[in-house]
Amino acid sequence: MLAADPTLKCVVCYARISFDGRVKDAHGIEDQHRGMTDNARKLGWLVVYRYTDNDKSASKESVVRDDFEQLLNDLATATTPEGYPIHGVMAVNDDRLYRRPSDWERYLKAFTSQEGRVYHDSNGVQDLYAEGFEIKGLVGVAMSLSETRKKQRRTRNSHRNRALRGQSVAAWRPFGWEDDKITLRPEEAKAIREAVEDVIAGASVSEITRRWKEAGFITSRGNPFQYQTVKQVLVNPRLCGYREIKGELVRDGDDQPIVGEWDAIVTPKQWFAITAKIRERGHGTGMPRGGLVHKYLLTGILRCGNVLEDGTTCNNKMIGIKANDWLKYRHAYMCKKTVDGGCNKTYKRGDKTDDAIERLVVAKLEKEAASKAKDVPDWDKADTLERAIKSRNELERRWHDDEDTAIDDEAFFRNLPVFERRIKELRADQAKHEALKAEAEAAQEDIAKSWGSKTLTQKREAIKKVLNAVVALPGGKGNKVFDPELLKPVWRTSE
Ligand SMILES: [Zn+2]
Repeated sequence: MLAADPTLKCVVCYARISFDGRVKDAHGIEDQHRGMTDNARKLGWLVVYRYTDNDKSASKESVVRDDFEQLLNDLATATTPEGYPIHGVMAVNDDRLYRRPSDWERYLKAFTSQEGRVYHDSNGVQDLYAEGFEIKGLVGVAMSLSETRKKQRRTRNSHRNRALRGQSVAAWRPFGWEDDKITLRPEEAKAIREAVEDVIAGASVSEITRRWKEAGFITSRGNPFQYQTVKQVLVNPRLCGYREIKGELVRDGDDQPIVGEWDAIVTPKQWFAITAKIRERGHGTGMPRGGLVHKYLLTGILRCGNVLEDGTTCNNKMIGIKANDWLKYRHAYMCKKTVDGGCNKTYKRGDKTDDAIERLVVAKLEKEAASKAKDVPDWDKADTLERAIKSRNELERRWHDDEDTAIDDEAFFRNLPVFERRIKELRADQAKHEALKAEAEAAQEDIAKSWGSKTLTQKREAIKKVLNAVVALPGGKGNKVFDPELLKPVWRTSE
């Protein structure tokens, strides 16, 4: 290869993981080497040897790092143990190489024993021959500059690497899973699954919050559930096995979301549906819409149909009230008192009114579902997305390329955002479509059966979708038999 391309850089990688008393991450070395290999590929360098020191802290005087010593030796002789030339060195961070000034000095001396070597770490490609670099290094060592920052960066990198391997990175047991963060905790997982289904079907996060509080659920940190914490649980991609970093799904080389090793609670489709639902409602404020949870099924829907003396209809929105204690039913609807702008002539017992309207609505929904039980078509931009991803990858390939078709950094970084934005838009569109599809499928299920398990808010949403109002004509109060014919539904005409 060298004969074919004399400019090819043969580089060696150095990785070290220190055992600092915490759980040893066996993948640390693997992650470091993988990251360096990726970078080498981007730079067009060829990795010819990997040095690895495990469980050794570079800052302890007594510790001899075998591979570090080997690296210094090989740099001096300019060949790897297998006889490859060494044109450069890669490390994840420079503090992987040294912690003590003497190490840095020795390393720099060995490195610069030959001209034209390249060096790369998390700060990018650096010129170790440049004047002042040794001082920079020494100052860095002496003052342990940015030590904390580096540690944080390592944790972050490690998080990303763990996520790429589909491993859990949660510090706390996530609600819904056992302490191993993999196995489901049945009763919590069930509550989540039901909540997801209900929210997709129209329930509010506030209702779920109330339900979880009543059921005695607490967060895995031992706090009572609040609106925000419930919402966080419900939009977490972990529910369907995905993982998000900074609001973006973690994807593999083929752009597919990485599926974690933990048990999923809902399907990706359901997760797309619920996040779309919650985002569309939240309007970005994160607050419950309206903030008001209705107590009675038909408040605001039921209108007074009493004909007044001047021949017009009262048409006031009837209010829900708690029924008197001696009555068999719990609530009632009535037209407001005249001082409050009503006519106070219409009164309906709540249980029978609710029941009558629910029957009407279920019948109507069943009829509608039967007439439009068509599938939502498949997303028609899958090819476009695939092409966009291909174009982006092609751009990347050409950037790494040495051929005539290669593009320079400027062209690459100018074009990359265009492709990235396009892919992002298409993915958003895809997510929206998945949500639609999930909703359509949910709608086809047995309406009468699912109606019974709906919450009050869900029922109100469903009623308001098909009914503009219900006009209640006066009559049926006192001992008179309840007459459902006095309730006149005003259906919404097809949209
Ligand atoms: Zn009235």
